[in-house]
Amino acid sequence: MSFENLGLSESLLKAVAEQGYTTPTPVQQQAIPTIVEGHDVLAAAQTGTGKTAGFTLPLLERLSHTHPKMAKKQVRVLVLTPTRELAAQVAQSIKTYGKYMKYSSTVVYGGVGINPQLATIRKGVDIVIATPGRLLDIAGQDGIDFSVLETLVLDEADRMLDMGFIHDIKRLIKLMPHKKQTLLFSATFSPEIKKLAASFLNNPKTIEVARENSTVDQIKQVVHYVDKSRKRELLSQLIKTKDWRQVLVFTRTKHGANKLTKQLNEAGIETLAIHGNKSQGARTKALANFKSNNIRVLVATDIAARGLDIEQLPHVVNFELPNVPEDYVHRIGRTGRAGQSGEAVSLVCIDEHSLLFDIEKFIKKDIEKVHIEAFAPDPNIKAEPIQKGRGSRNNNKSNNKEKNTNNKPKRNSRNKSKNSDIAAKIGSRIQEKLDKLEKRDKRS
Ligand code: AMP
Repeated sequence: MSFENLGLSESLLKAVAEQGYTTPTPVQQQAIPTIVEGHDVLAAAQTGTGKTAGFTLPLLERLSHTHPKMAKKQVRVLVLTPTRELAAQVAQSIKTYGKYMKYSSTVVYGGVGINPQLATIRKGVDIVIATPGRLLDIAGQDGIDFSVLETLVLDEADRMLDMGFIHDIKRLIKLMPHKKQTLLFSATFSPEIKKLAASFLNNPKTIEVARENSTVDQIKQVVHYVDKSRKRELLSQLIKTKDWRQVLVFTRTKHGANKLTKQLNEAGIETLAIHGNKSQGARTKALANFKSNNIRVLVATDIAARGLDIEQLPHVVNFELPNVPEDYVHRIGRTGRAGQSGEAVSLVCIDEHSLLFDIEKFIKKDIEKVHIEAFAPDPNIKAEPIQKGRGSRNNNKSNNKEKNTNNKPKRNSRNKSKNSDIAAKIGSRIQEKLDKLEKRDKRS
């Protein structure tokens, strides 16, 4: 099977060839023709197996067949992602694949000024890539018109439909026409989310490339049991003795990420942190420095677990296991991408044994346990409950969602109340708009 057989036009084939892709991946083979034909799609394929091109190429193909003049504020295709970094990455992929096509696109997310984004969308844009919080702000300012929307894509769809985002998504969908193509893509889907997803789709085609929720075989997975108080020491030792040059390390909390970053720097290992309390400038810089090998370690919360494509990243470390097993699959999926090999190491203390059990059950696989004599856990230490914090989905909130409507991280309570005033104002404007649309629907 080649890209030529998938019904893509010359301009897209040229851009794909320039990327060095010779064969479409399994998800691309199935998704591209199905989307070009106009079907709704629910697609599950493992991390790093080319999902982005799986939906962006056929979207661009469909756009290339019609060229309506975009009226003010109108948009034809909307791609929603859970994080700013992923939105930027998808926007870049669209630019790359659409290089020889005529269309317009823009990316909007929080943490940067809203006015340039409003000004761009005001002209009318073919493709908007967005995080939900900022898009709601824009909708609340009457800055976008979804009336001619042809296609909606939810990237990392299970995350977009879980408790942290579902309300925003529902509010946005209410502003869109009923008749549209909807595409849901992810590497993981729980049965509940699948059921919920079905309610957003119209007679969808299901694409399932590998066993549900499975991890990629090229990723070597290892667990080291170690006491919580000795994890930092073990991590430094692994990095130094194994001479790891590029390591993505996940912690459960932003505070934990900051603390570990400081400790690793003190141990002489160049490290930066990326999490939701950092300014957008610092986040972008940290990721860029990591990608270009200027720093050795990037310590991240689950903000970096989804979708990020870091070329040839060799090592991922779970300094702490995630609260939900799905996040384990996404975290380790930052390595072993596009057929490359990779290694995922989890440092597991006694408190985390039940999390590890849940993960192994979810991925239907026993992870290899490698004993390190010098770090053997103290048998006298008893398990303590894990502070689930705001990162837990069970609390219906995630610290990793892009919902900060303000341009800067919130600093004090005065800011907080100012923010909630703004949010209330925006919320009521959206509600007014929804009420108007509902009245219009009833009349027609
Ligand atoms: P994704 O899962 O969309 O993030 O893609 C993972 C990686 O695979 C990215 O680095 C893509 O550039 C690469 N990729 C996507 N499609 C192909 C293909 N058909 N052949 C080779 N590499 C690909």
